[in-house]
Amino acid sequence: MTDNTHISPNTLAVDFPDIIASLLTVGIVMVDRRFTIVLWNRFMELNSQIRGEEVLGKNLFDAFPELNRNWLEKKIKSCIILKTPSFSSWRQRPYLFRFKPSALQDGVPEFMHQDVSIFPIYDHSGMVQGVCMAIHDVTELAQQTSLLERITDQAVDIEESSQRDGLTGLFNRKFFDEQITQEIQRTRRYKWPLALAMVDLDHFKSVNDTYGHNAGDIVLRSTANRLQGMLRATDTLCRYGGEEFALILPHITQEHSKFLLDRLRKAIESMIVELDDGTTISVTLSVGIAQFIEGVSSGELVRRADGALYASKAAGRNCVTCHIPATVETGTDSES
Ligand code: GH3
Ligand code: MG
Ligand code: MG
Repeated sequence: MTDNTHISPNTLAVDFPDIIASLLTVGIVMVDRRFTIVLWNRFMELNSQIRGEEVLGKNLFDAFPELNRNWLEKKIKSCIILKTPSFSSWRQRPYLFRFKPSALQDGVPEFMHQDVSIFPIYDHSGMVQGVCMAIHDVTELAQQTSLLERITDQAVDIEESSQRDGLTGLFNRKFFDEQITQEIQRTRRYKWPLALAMVDLDHFKSVNDTYGHNAGDIVLRSTANRLQGMLRATDTLCRYGGEEFALILPHITQEHSKFLLDRLRKAIESMIVELDDGTTISVTLSVGIAQFIEGVSSGELVRRADGALYASKAAGRNCVTCHIPATVETGTDSES
């Protein structure tokens, strides 16, 4: 048996204003064009601890001086003039009315977070006579969202710190191994040049022996900062181990990488590290550069750069050497 009766609000004795007024889950406030409160529902009564009789007929802003008058007046007026509803999320403005949150557990914000919708109210002639504000308690959602954001931030921090060296803040060896593999893949795909430089401080053992291990740490940190400050955003400087750094340089020819590394070498040569007691320390560094060519693995690239670094050490240190396949050419500042 089919039931052909259509249910429509017009055919039923439904008292919508009464339902709205009794709503416990959504706050409903209506004001006229002059901001006089004409409806204050049960949700509002419960959360404000103010009964309807006490606020009906009063100016909204007189009754609730804590409201952000500038902002809300503009919102209401534009709703009346433009005849369009508007919405304000807790993300833009955590709350409109300053209510205590309904649940008082750990981590609950101090005030109830609210999403607010504002609708125009028409009279029978189609004139806008005021607005209706619907206030949703979204405290739980806001709390869960900020918890999730905190967890995500922490996960990003952990991931980030697992890639960093504790002493210098540079990327660590593990990150270098991943990065050099990726850079080689990109270089193969896009056919751009790629260079790898291995950088090692000269006679660093004697820095430790002369000034102590702490002073050595300070020199390592200063060197890392100085080098990092001179690089492009696409370059990756890593602490390869001890007093050795690896520098991945994409989009750079052998000639330019030699020029850049010589600048870095000179910058460290002229750097003076001053300790708290006034002692000053200077260091130099030696560099080996290898250019990526097709068929070379990341391990082989590191070996080639290391070989060139060894040649720099053998040539007297404080210089830059480029690996040339099948041979190694050493060039000091005066020769380059
Ligand atoms: P070379 O010019 O041949 O590279 O000589 P070097 O003395 O720099 O090389 P060597 O490998 O003999 O010594 C490296 C020194 O670096 C010894 C080690 O104690 C020191 N070193 C390594 N890591 C750290 C660190 O984290 N802090 C400090 N202060 N010293 C470190
Ligand atoms: Mg060294
Ligand atoms: Mg070394």
